[in-house]
Amino acid sequence: MATPKQAKAVKTAVKKYKNYIGGEWVAPSSGQWFDNVNPADTSDIVGRFPNSGREDVDRAVAAAKEAATRWRRTPAPKRAEILFTLGEILRKNKEAYTQQMTREMGKVLKEAGGDVQEAIDCTYYTAGEGRRLHGFTTPAEMPNKFAMCVRQPVGICGLITPFNFPMAIPSWKLIPALVCGNTVVLKSGEDVPLSALNLVKACEEAGIPKGVVNLVNGERDAGAALVEHPDVRLISFTGSTATGKKIAEHAARENKIVSLEMGGKNAIIVMDDADIDNAVEGSLWGAFGTSGQRCTASSRLVVHKKVYKKFCEKLVERTKKLRVGSGLDPKTEVGPVINERQMDKVLGYIEIGRKIDKATLACGGNRLTKGDLSRGFFIEPTVFTDVKPKMRIAQEEIFGPVTCVIPFSTLDEAIDIVNGVQYGLSSAIYTQDVNRAFHAMQELYTGICYVNSATIGAEVHLPFGGTKGTGNGHREAGTQVLDIFSEWKALYIDHSGKLQKAQIDEVEI
Ligand code: NAD
Repeated sequence: MATPKQAKAVKTAVKKYKNYIGGEWVAPSSGQWFDNVNPADTSDIVGRFPNSGREDVDRAVAAAKEAATRWRRTPAPKRAEILFTLGEILRKNKEAYTQQMTREMGKVLKEAGGDVQEAIDCTYYTAGEGRRLHGFTTPAEMPNKFAMCVRQPVGICGLITPFNFPMAIPSWKLIPALVCGNTVVLKSGEDVPLSALNLVKACEEAGIPKGVVNLVNGERDAGAALVEHPDVRLISFTGSTATGKKIAEHAARENKIVSLEMGGKNAIIVMDDADIDNAVEGSLWGAFGTSGQRCTASSRLVVHKKVYKKFCEKLVERTKKLRVGSGLDPKTEVGPVINERQMDKVLGYIEIGRKIDKATLACGGNRLTKGDLSRGFFIEPTVFTDVKPKMRIAQEEIFGPVTCVIPFSTLDEAIDIVNGVQYGLSSAIYTQDVNRAFHAMQELYTGICYVNSATIGAEVHLPFGGTKGTGNGHREAGTQVLDIFSEWKALYIDHSGKLQKAQIDEVEI
């Protein structure tokens, strides 16, 4: 055991990271720092990060304001060129970022690599918009008059991100904001500050001018200060529905633009004609990938009564075999959950499932503490069967390695079950029948729908977002994200040389 002195030496050896404001790496004015802890081994401190306050946010917003005109006036293809360089830097450092992400967030190396890859894909794809950013022309009502529409940046954007996709989600906001000509202040999830810092450092290396990208580390207060800042025109938020609603209330009072990507309670329908083995594999991946901490996690499996028994047996058998451990071990299939609070929340839901909902706990249900696992936040992959659609575990977002199997008799009943929650992010159906697949695609009221695949695995060139409690009508990724980070300007050019009054003057033909 380390003596107190040795322990102190270890503690002081932990690297301190800074905020990035106006092109400089600066300590927080509060003088406060927080530890970034490895969720697989809480004795491993990944780094110490600024616990920023309002003053730091004010400085970051001032820097973004100062840089705004120059960046807005930089031609979009030139902005894109810098972003392509950024893509190269991300690609070059993918392995190092992946390791660091697994250490701070816990997801297994392959998935962390996928997260970094998503940031790379997003950067290349969205940078390409710098040579498009299409507007349109349209006929004018009057002769010798020209009409067209262009996109213009919105101004200073506050980007607030969660813990579960530490580099991908910041990139989904940052890159489109930049290509559209905005300047930004980023506040990433407090459990995963290193991945966002890696992204911002890469922006610096790529040559993005000072003040265009600013990073303020911190917790809820830093996020709230960003939302409340009068110079921040737009808030792009991804996180829980509870936080998103608070942000939306404030944004509404101040008339800010706000885009919200929030919780999910996604479901896979397994029809009686499905390839059961394929459906089981998809369900395992959808439910337990990222330890169930995906907004698109397959937390409900809605299974036809005719194949219910067979499906449940296979699912439970496979779930029991999943290898849980540190994500840094390449053999691990399911890593830890992010922190103690989240672990307690998930274990609390398992108790609700057993004692209040009285569903059948088919496997899992416990914290794992054997050997090295005692140092982290590990939960057994858990399957509840005989779940009824209105039970709490089938309605509320658990955000952990827990899934519920719900039996049904007809496709329309299954569709009602899938749609019968407050969220509307992702859904899926396993079937060999094209008519059933198209009926489900038409009737499932979610932002994303998969056929013969799990509810997870979105690609960056398609729009991403959800209906109902998941979002507020915006879509990230694809070209649709440009509608968040730019506003339309309608331009009328009258070259008739005289006053022409639209809607009033008669046009002679
Ligand atoms: P969270 O809401 O606790 O935190 C998200 C971010 O908001 C963090 O950076 C946090 O510091 C900040 N924050 C907290 N309170 C704030 C406030 N009052 N004002 C401003 N900022 C504040 O979410 P989380 O636990 O980090 O992430 C998990 C949630 O994110 C889940 O609900 C999940 O479904 C959701 N999520 C949604 C999507 C999507 O695209 N729909 C994607 C990923 C995650």
